Amino acid sequence: MTDISSPNRRRQPMPAWPLTVIGAANVTPRMRRVRFVGEVPQGFAWRPGQDLVLTLPTPDGEARRHYTIRAYDPVEQIFEIDIVLHGDSPATRWARGAVMGDVIQAQGPRGRTVVHPSADWHLFVGDETGLPASASAIAILEAYDAAERQVPAVEARVSVEWFLRGGPAAASSRRLVERLGLFAPPPGLGHAYVVGETSTVRTIRQGLIARGFPRDRIAAEGYWRPGRIGGHDHVFDASEIAEQVVGKVAEKLSAEIARGLMRAAAR
Ligand SMILES: Cc1cc2nc3c(=O)[nH]c(=O)nc-3n(C[C@H](O)[C@H](O)[C@H](O)COP(=O)(O)OP(=O)(O)OC[C@H]3O[C@@H](n4cnc5c(N)ncnc54)[C@H](O)[C@@H]3O)c2cc1C
Repeated sequence: MTDISSPNRRRQPMPAWPLTVIGAANVTPRMRRVRFVGEVPQGFAWRPGQDLVLTLPTPDGEARRHYTIRAYDPVEQIFEIDIVLHGDSPATRWARGAVMGDVIQAQGPRGRTVVHPSADWHLFVGDETGLPASASAIAILEAYDAAERQVPAVEARVSVEWFLRGGPAAASSRRLVERLGLFAPPPGLGHAYVVGETSTVRTIRQGLIARGFPRDRIAAEGYWRPGRIGGHDHVFDASEIAEQVVGKVAEKLSAEIARGLMRAAAR
């Protein structure tokens, strides 16, 4: 199990700033929308799709969890965040009990799963944890039942297709995987965003690549996984990981060789 005590291990820690709850209500039986007001830090720049790391109080300390900014009003500095009520977890418990005036800490925004403005169309695939939307989009989404469906948050040309699993979210959603196996891309340049349970995300990404979708036009991120506590999973292929390792080793070797040559030249 991974805890996300350090969401961004290699970089400087992001500054934390307070968010105050100004309202909380269920938008569907299993999704609670919390509204916050917060004075954002200087230089705050948010791109749709990015998330905040929230530090939530728990009976024995605190829990840090990633949540997508569903909406942000820069004038009023009001944020909306939708929290899936999936069980008896720290974030679920906090969201159920959130009341006006509660203050939590936020860090961010962060995340590379952002909407690419250059694309002609966008394909969003996910479960309840990723209900994004954009200018011209095809959204293939899974939810518990019909009551969990939501109208997309934008006035847009969005075609939404829902898959209702009728039970708790589980690893490897066969329905989404099967549907994506039949996906026929429309003309133009597309960009795919695949988020949700990690093994499902990985299978869908591999399926899209196998069907000719360029891998550099797929943003894929594991938002949760059975047994994992907070955090997130980068979704890569073994071959891409190998490529990265080889690239890093080659970089180090060439730096060593360059240093050796310079030393030899100086003698
Ligand atoms: C970049 C990013 C953006 C995200 N945005 C959102 C968002 O906008 N809304 C949202 O609700 N979630 C979002 N998530 C997912 C959320 O951070 C995780 O679901 C997180 O684990 C929830 O914390 P928790 O305290 O409820 O459960 P944890 O204590 O972290 O997990 C306990 C157990 O609960 C199970 N579990 C966790 N999440 C789920 C789930 N969604 N469904 C079923 N079982 C689950 C797992 O078995 C896990 O081991 C996002 C994640 C990332 C990485």
